[in-house]
Amino acid sequence: MENRILGLHHITAIAGNAKQNLDFYTKVLGQRFVKKTVNFDDPGTYHFYFGDEKGTPGSILTFFPWAGVRRGQNGAGMATGIGYSVPVDSLEFWKERFKRFNVKQDEIGERFGEKYLHFQDPDGLQLDFIASENEDKRKPWESDEIKSAHATKGFHSVTLTLNKVEPTAKVLTDILGYKLLKHEGNRYRFITDAIDNAGIVDIIEAPGLGRGINSAGTNHHVAFRVKDDNILMEYREKVLSKGLDITPKIDRDYFFSLYFREPGGVLFELATENPGFDKDEPLSELGTHLKLPKQYEPARKEIEKVLPQLD
Ligand code: ZN
Repeated sequence: MENRILGLHHITAIAGNAKQNLDFYTKVLGQRFVKKTVNFDDPGTYHFYFGDEKGTPGSILTFFPWAGVRRGQNGAGMATGIGYSVPVDSLEFWKERFKRFNVKQDEIGERFGEKYLHFQDPDGLQLDFIASENEDKRKPWESDEIKSAHATKGFHSVTLTLNKVEPTAKVLTDILGYKLLKHEGNRYRFITDAIDNAGIVDIIEAPGLGRGINSAGTNHHVAFRVKDDNILMEYREKVLSKGLDITPKIDRDYFFSLYFREPGGVLFELATENPGFDKDEPLSELGTHLKLPKQYEPARKEIEKVLPQLD
């Protein structure tokens, strides 16, 4: 079991204004600001990580905030929805809270027998809080305003929108170890039993739907979790053996990664649990310092000058 894909590791999305993004996820949603760093390929841009206390894989949503960037649009070949797991009786609390903060939201709905509240972040990113009857035993991060009775536990699922289910389904089942659980209309639910949570991928089949625009308010990629870098490299061979291209191992400072584009168009990543977010600052101080990868440390002063103000 040790070498299986352990559900989701993180999801990365694009935002506009950095401060607005930070305030929404920490203050309105009560996520922990786990890491403040820069885009390793574009150090004049922040890379924010939000999650639980430790930034446990399966809880981490990350953003590249690009000031003034155009609004993107969901479409085929993208991850189009993020589901967070919340306690079973918390949806009314969130509904009231979202009203107070003018968050765009829908009425509470039901899917696969689970109640959910659909809402959008300030850039239009599509999110669901899903109240599963199955108890989620993960320990939530508590903020001043959001205590454990309501706090998110991490991811429940990610939703991909695709023109065709089968090619991507094959990647999920034959490479990543997921199984088709059931479907409701054109929504197909895949799940892995390798882990108790963040183990669901939904595919919405939308034949003929045009491609989306990957910009603010849309997801950039979906990362799946593996235990360590040895297992990571086993999956590299596995992906290659299925005739797909995949990158070499990349050091992301807090985890090691591989990237490949699945046949439906979504960028998938495989990411390790090691070394974790307390690698370069103590657990109690996560997110409080600007952390730079070592190649940019000599340019810290210049980088700090171009990064947007957050207070
Ligand atoms: Zn990533």
